[in-house]
This record gives sequence, C-alpha cells and structure tokens, in this order.
Amino acid sequence: MENTTSSVEIPHPAPRSSRPEILAEEIIERLTYRIGKDAQVAKPHDWLTATILVVRDRIIDRWMESTRKVYRTGGKRVYYLSLEFLIGRLMRDAVSNLGLMQEITDALTSLGVDIAVISGLEPDAALGNGGLGRLAACFMESMATVDIPAYGYGIRYVHGLFRQQMADGWQVELPETWLAHGNPWEFERRESSYEIGFGGTVETVGGYEDQPRYVWKPAERVIAMAYDTPVVGWRGKRVNTLRLWSAQPIDPILLDAFNAGDHIGALRESNKAESLTRVLYPADANPAGQELRLRQEFFFSSASLQDILRRHLQQYPDFTNLHEKVAIQLNDTHPAISIGELIRLLVDIHGMDIEEAWNITRQTFSYTNHTLLPEALESWPVPLFERLLPRHMQLVYAINTKILLEARKEKRFSDTQIRSISLIEEAGERRVRMGNLAFVGSHSINGVSALHTELMKVTVFSDLHTLYPTRINNKTNGITPRRWLMQCNPGLTNLIREAIGDEFLDNTEALAALDAYADESTFQKKFADVKRANKVQLANLVSSRMGVRLDPSALFDIQVKRIHEYKRQLLNIIEAVALYDQIRSRPELDWAPRVKLFAGKAAPSYHNAKLIIKLANDVARVVNNDPAVRGLLKVVFVPNYNVSLAEIIMPAADLSEQISTAGMEASGTGNMKFGLNGALTIGTLDGANVEMRDHVGEENIVIFGLTADEVAKVRQGDYNPRAVIEKSPELSQALNAIASGVFSPDDRSRFQELIDGIYNHDWFMVAADFDAYASAQRSVDQIWADPKSWYSKTIRNTARMGWFSSDRTIRQYASEIWRA
Ligand SMILES: *Cc1c(COP(=O)(O)O)cnc(C)c1O
Repeated sequence: MENTTSSVEIPHPAPRSSRPEILAEEIIERLTYRIGKDAQVAKPHDWLTATILVVRDRIIDRWMESTRKVYRTGGKRVYYLSLEFLIGRLMRDAVSNLGLMQEITDALTSLGVDIAVISGLEPDAALGNGGLGRLAACFMESMATVDIPAYGYGIRYVHGLFRQQMADGWQVELPETWLAHGNPWEFERRESSYEIGFGGTVETVGGYEDQPRYVWKPAERVIAMAYDTPVVGWRGKRVNTLRLWSAQPIDPILLDAFNAGDHIGALRESNKAESLTRVLYPADANPAGQELRLRQEFFFSSASLQDILRRHLQQYPDFTNLHEKVAIQLNDTHPAISIGELIRLLVDIHGMDIEEAWNITRQTFSYTNHTLLPEALESWPVPLFERLLPRHMQLVYAINTKILLEARKEKRFSDTQIRSISLIEEAGERRVRMGNLAFVGSHSINGVSALHTELMKVTVFSDLHTLYPTRINNKTNGITPRRWLMQCNPGLTNLIREAIGDEFLDNTEALAALDAYADESTFQKKFADVKRANKVQLANLVSSRMGVRLDPSALFDIQVKRIHEYKRQLLNIIEAVALYDQIRSRPELDWAPRVKLFAGKAAPSYHNAKLIIKLANDVARVVNNDPAVRGLLKVVFVPNYNVSLAEIIMPAADLSEQISTAGMEASGTGNMKFGLNGALTIGTLDGANVEMRDHVGEENIVIFGLTADEVAKVRQGDYNPRAVIEKSPELSQALNAIASGVFSPDDRSRFQELIDGIYNHDWFMVAADFDAYASAQRSVDQIWADPKSWYSKTIRNTARMGWFSSDRTIRQYASEIWRA
C-alpha cells in the first residue's frame, strides 16, 4: 500500500457511490460473493459482515489517499504506542464519520434489515481495561479528525478484557471471544512481519580500535505479524491506521518432530508463540508483574520500532533525521522498553554511534504518565530483565551511568537524589524502573490533568524534575465528541442543532452558545424530554438484562468505572445504606426517588474490589425488596461494563459520581462523558474534576471532601478514623449494619474485614469524607426538587464541556510535544 514507486501508471479506482440503491446492491453482492449466502437465508451476522465490507470500501479510498499524502509532503508521522486500545464497536462510528448514516440506514431498510439490530451484533472490541485504553481509542479518532498522520501500535489480543457475569452477586470472569465471527474491519499484512527475540546471549565481535560491536543472539524467536484497522476521522477527512501485532511461530509446525512421531511436541512451539498475544492482562492501576507481560511489552515495542525504521528508510537514506520525521508517544510505561530497543536497532543493527543514537532517541520519544500510585509504577526484577533482554539490560546500565554521572557532576545531586533518579531500584530486590527509563529517554513527560501534572512534579518524579525542569508538561485528557455525544445521544445532538445550528459538530467549543438557552423554559422542557427518553432506554436494558424495574422519573445517580478502592464505590454504597436507613426511619420527609446504578469490572486478583461488587449486589437485594422503602431507592449493579454499555448509560445519567480520594485519580474521562451529556457531577477536587469545575462554574457542579493537599496532610498526621466514625451517627449506623451482616445474612462476617479497613487505617478517606459526601447528596436532592434550577445547571454542563474534546487535547500534543 505504501509503495507508490510503480513504474506503470495504474489509475486509482473511482470513489465509491454513496447512493442508497448502489449501497444496497453492493451489500447483496458482498453477501453473495464474499460470504457465500443467499439473501433469503442470510443470518443477521451475515448482513452485518456484508454491510461492514461495503462501508470498508468507502474507507479504503480515503485511507490510501491519506497515506499518499504523507509520502508527497514528507510530513512528520506520529506513532502512538499503547498496550491497550478500548475501541468498542466500529460500525456506527465509521458510518457516522463518513456521513453515510442515512444512506446506509435506507439501503438496509430497502433490504428489510434493521440497522439497529445488526449493529447490536457487532462485538465490542475490548482490548483494554479502562480509561487508559479508552483514551488511546479517542486519540486515534481525534488524530484522524484533526488530520495528523498517525499510527496506533498495540497488540491484537485474541481475548480482550474478560466478560463479567454475576453469580449470586459475585463477579465471575468469562473469556471474551470478540473474533469468533471473524473481524471484517482488519487487514492481515503478512508482508509486514518481523522477528522478535527473547533471551540468549550478547556477543562482542571484534570491531576495530576501541569500538566493539554487540550482537544479541536470542535463544527464542517469534514472528510479529501486523493486522491493520482503518480509523476514520470526522467527516472522513483522513483515515489513519491502527496496527495490532499478532505473534506467530517461526515454524508453524516442527515437521521433523512431527514425522518422528512427537505430534504433541511438534505443536508445542507454535502454541507457545501464539500464547504471547492470546490474552490481555486484566489489571488496572496496578501492574501485572509476570514474565509473559514483559514479553508482551517487548514484543509489541520491538515490532513497532522495526516497522517505524523500515518505513523511514523507504523515504530517507538514513536515520540522522529520524526525530524530525517521527514522533513516538508512549502511553504509560508499558512500551518504555522501546527506548532501549530503538538504541539497540540504531547502534547494533544500523551501526550508528551510541551518542548520536541516544540524542535521536530522546528527541523522538515522549511519555504520558497515568498514575502516581507507588504500587502501580512498573518495575521489573533485574534477573528477569537480564534473562529475557540481555542486550537491553546492558543498554539500561549504560544510560544509567550516563545520567547519574551528569546528576552527580553537573548538578551536584545528593546520594538520596541519585537513588531516586536511578533506573535501578537498589533497595531490596534490584529492579528496573520503567517510569524512570521512560522519563530519561523522552524529551517530554506529560500528566493528564493540571492537578496530576503538578503532583507528578512533587511526588514520583520530583528529583528527575529537578534534573530536567523543562520536560514535565500537562495535557488534560479529552473524549471524542463524535462517539460520546453525536453517536450515543442523537436526541440531544438534534436538539442542540435546532437551537444553535451545526457549528458544534466541527468545533465542540461552539456548544457554549447553548448557555443562552439554559434558563429558557421551552428549551429546558425539550432537554428534559431527551433525558427522559434516554433514561427509558436504559431502564429497558436493565429490565431485560436483570429483571429490575426502574422508574424513569427517579433521579438516576450513576457510578460506572473500574472497581477500585481509590475510586470509592464503597463510599457511595455506604451512603446508599445510610439513605436506606433514613428513608425508613423518617417517612415523613419528602424523599426524592433515586436510582443508584453501578457498573464496572474488578481485576480478578483484586480481593477487595470483588467484595465491593458483592456488597453492592447484597445491598441491592435487601433495599429493592423492602416494602418500607416504598420504591424511593433502587440499587442496581449492571454486569459487564464496556464501551457499548457506557454509550447507553452516559446519556441517561442525571448525576455523575466522580468521588475518588483526592490526589489519586490522574484525570478521569468518564467524568467528561457524563458532563457533556448533561449530567450534574458530584465529585472531589481530583483529576480533571478540578478543571471541569473551572469550565462549568462552581455553581454548576457539586464539590465536596478533602483536597489532595488535605489528604496528604491527614495521612501524615495522626488520623484516627475510629474517632471520626464515632462522631457521625449516620456513618456508624451504616458501617455497623454492613459489618454485622444485615445485608449478608447467609454469611454475617462477609464484609467484616472490608469495614475493619475503614476503622483501622482508612487509607482512602472514606470515613474522613463521609459526612461531606452525605451532605453534598442532600444538596443534590434540593437542586433536583427544583427542576428549573436542575436543568439550568445541567444544560450549562453540556454547554461548557466543549473544551474536554480530545480534538483539543490532540492539537496540544501536536503543537507542544510532537511538533507535527
Ligand atoms: C470512559 C471509560 C472508562 C474510564 O472511566 P473513568 O470514570 O474515567 O475511570 C472506563 N471504561 C469504559 C468502558 C469507558 O468508556
């Protein structure tokens, strides 16, 4: 596709028609000749595949043109390396971005096919855990939209994140088989294959004078093969490539062994290679420190770097201008080994001087940090690293020597400072620190919200920041408004178009014009009607999936995200228990009906997170079946949170729960999806909530609780959670009820330890923030009781969230980091 130097002039095919009759004809054509089915017997899945193939053709024309354009102009390419891409479904996104929604719908209708039915069959590609992976997916769409030539690089996991089921309220993990019906979006690129090595030895070969050459002789080798998925930008302007690597054995079958009768052994090698890209590690904010994970990281880093260098050499004679033509963004430290791999390829394979290679490397890479949690910072035991990547270990030592010398000699760093910037953790078991490697090997290190970036400078990277004070910068996260407003909320999108015209479709900040309508009663009424229709849709989903009936006129209070103690689903559940008690004990008060809806997956090894899911379900069973509640409170935990479920939930929320312990959520992007779709946020001053408050105005968001500074101080002081609990009758009551088994009569001590954690150390400040949270919830009740005030605030949320578009984020990366 990229080789445009053919000597014969072959004309490009004419662009495909977008007329519904032609689309319908082509769908039948694909069904017949590509899938081999007669329209009379075709199953809905066949229609889906045929439709995707027809849509895909429209993308290919633009895809090729996009590639030709970079070759013509010699522009810089951006490479986004991420171990996760939480893509979700692609059909509606592609069709809508191509501007073909009406035409495809009409074409299918003429064939008697309902687009809603077949698009619901598309598997949800969950090649990621949560926010970090979803960010990568939003960025891919925005890079195409703002016309940046970009490639996403990642792994084509056969099994993405597990499918979550509930068994008696407990999370059960089932394998996700998103490729079961094939994947019509992807193109297998057998010609783009690379050898990836592991283990073995490093040999020094002669060289001349004092410059020996190092040759890595890996003990094991596998092939990385590319699968390409086109990513269409808004209005089909540009199509970029998501290139995912799949591991293949060098020899698919050891024929000698097979012929000698060792049938099992002959296949073992092949299984071993393929297992490398079989599963996504289901860990979130907490690294999966197994050898296979390090292998995955190196596998996709090496394949991507070899691919980048090959492409560069197609266009330029050598690598001296690599940093002018290539920008590589590391999404967290997972691909940080790429820094060592680039140096190895430049020096060992292409014969570049190591000093020059180091300079080019640093100018090419930039790194995004996603977490400050010390337990979540990636590091690898030196013996493992050395065994798997012996040459990279040497290079890490060489870089470290250089950096430490610079710090000691030029900057007069103390021993403590030297210890903290070293690439090697020396206390206890020696480990390679991937965050420090990513930092020293990059010219830019960015945080993902203003608060997070400031905290980075004074916590994890304080000494590295002193050494390189200009490198840390902020790029507040964003979300793509195409998926997270236009596609998921057509009702609201149409209402906005009627009111302020179409400009916001191309410039999300033009939503600001809605502000003028925020207090207008006819607009408020229409806004409320749209919200209600979205709530009915969610209520129908909950009813059909779970058999629980929700009243769409209740306040929909929603917390959906990965289950983690720092995200504090527990605080929300405890408040639900307190509210339950109040509704029963004070029936004379005018309680507003509320639905507390939760969804999210827990890492399978994260005991407390799984217990929190069970608690939500146990509380739900008791509350939902207690006639004394009089339907005023419903608690539901919707299984299997993923992108497709989020697309139904976000438009239906009245209240968005963003209540992490301040200082612990790097940014959050769920908070942005809710706000854009007209929910009121209840939240702490954490992550991007701080900037959301600045944009929507403090009167249009409900903020409570300790700040990040206060949390740090409380933790340093002699915080006594027990005393705090004893002073709060509501909290004591709720905690006692949970701990004593009111919600778990079958196992009264089930939640004892969970609650003891709050009494004993309360690391996540649940007790410390409880009263502030409960009282913030009562102020939400008051706003809800006055619909004029409620819609005035929620309309302003939609109007003022435009800045949180990932188009804005990407433009900032492009101008300030990539210079693309
Ligand atoms: C947006 C999104 C997330 C991130 O949510 P946070 O609230 O920012 O943690 C996680 N999972 C899915 C499916 C999402 O769409």
